[in-house]
Amino acid sequence: MEMAYLFPPMSSSAPRKTTGQGRLYDSIVDTIGNTPCIRINQLAPKHVTVYVKAEFFNPAASVKDRLAISIIEEAERSGALKPGQTVVEATSGNTGIGLAMVCAAKGYPLVVTMADSFSIERRKLMRFLGAKVVLTPRAAKGMGMYLKAKELADKNGWFLARQFETAANAMIHENTTGREIMADFKGKKLDYFVTGYGTGGTFSGVGRVLRKESPQTKIILSEPASAALVASGTAQARGADHGPSVGHPAWAAHPIQGWTPDFIPYVLQEGLDKKFYDQLISIPGPAGIEWSRKLAQKEGIFTGISGGATFAVAMQIAEKAPAGSVILAMLPDTGERYMTTPLFEGIVELMSPEEDALSKSTPGYQMPPPA
Ligand code: PMP
Repeated sequence: MEMAYLFPPMSSSAPRKTTGQGRLYDSIVDTIGNTPCIRINQLAPKHVTVYVKAEFFNPAASVKDRLAISIIEEAERSGALKPGQTVVEATSGNTGIGLAMVCAAKGYPLVVTMADSFSIERRKLMRFLGAKVVLTPRAAKGMGMYLKAKELADKNGWFLARQFETAANAMIHENTTGREIMADFKGKKLDYFVTGYGTGGTFSGVGRVLRKESPQTKIILSEPASAALVASGTAQARGADHGPSVGHPAWAAHPIQGWTPDFIPYVLQEGLDKKFYDQLISIPGPAGIEWSRKLAQKEGIFTGISGGATFAVAMQIAEKAPAGSVILAMLPDTGERYMTTPLFEGIVELMSPEEDALSKSTPGYQMPPPA
């Protein structure tokens, strides 16, 4: 692929200044949303313009902060959640971290069920934010953690957040993520919007807005190559509560944490039924890792594996897109959440031979030889 070394304009002669937010905040939860769309300056082919919507600017550093505040505040409004009542949810991590942040700020105890295959950082972050994390065996997959959360809710009378089925999910993306995109691209072109899915909240919610208000924008839905559930064409079996009754046969383990559980979520189903996507692209996990690293090293943009995977798909779209096209890719979370995963493989603690040679190239402050 031809790389466009189209550097951003040189700094102007005036030093940078900032002016503050112009307001004070009553709670951490009021800082959720309004994440920036940022231009890609080095990795994108020359004939297109690519932006990323950087969800790591949310207070708990992922897109799921939006969902967390929506679930809790909708349940407060409807009376489904009582003051001080325990909240329980099955989550691969970011929803749990978002819920832990919101529950801490609003005074609700939180219990999270999570398969033991997800990164250690996620468990520790939730516990640091005051949540309890109940691990489930990875062999039982997403269904296992989901059914465990249900069991605990039924037994204890806890509030089950139900991120995969709740109307509060797509609604918040319609009211915030989608609105932000419309506002930020006001008066400008947006030819492609690229997203993956975990619950499908981002896709279904943003889809509602773009289909109505920006029908010329093509929506690209992505999923892991080893878990191409939507592409398989096999419908998801569901129970009366819209939750999955069995795991999906097309699912196999994949490294894109936060994407594609082993069932097609009900929240995603809306976007599929309403044909909110123009193209479906599957992407291998290693491409997500590769592009996450490139975003960090060539753009200074630090996102997780799903962000890398979404960006990898955006680069495929970019290569074939007509000249002048404008593409927006979602970056759901921060790369800091993946230090113990394959994303950081090869990033070591000790000095490399090159770093060691640099150290020895001047006389002072050299490290003693290892014992
Ligand atoms: N990437 C990551 C890292 C996530 O945690 C999630 C949410 N599970 C997504 C992508 C997908 O977002 P959504 O649930 O809105 O489809």
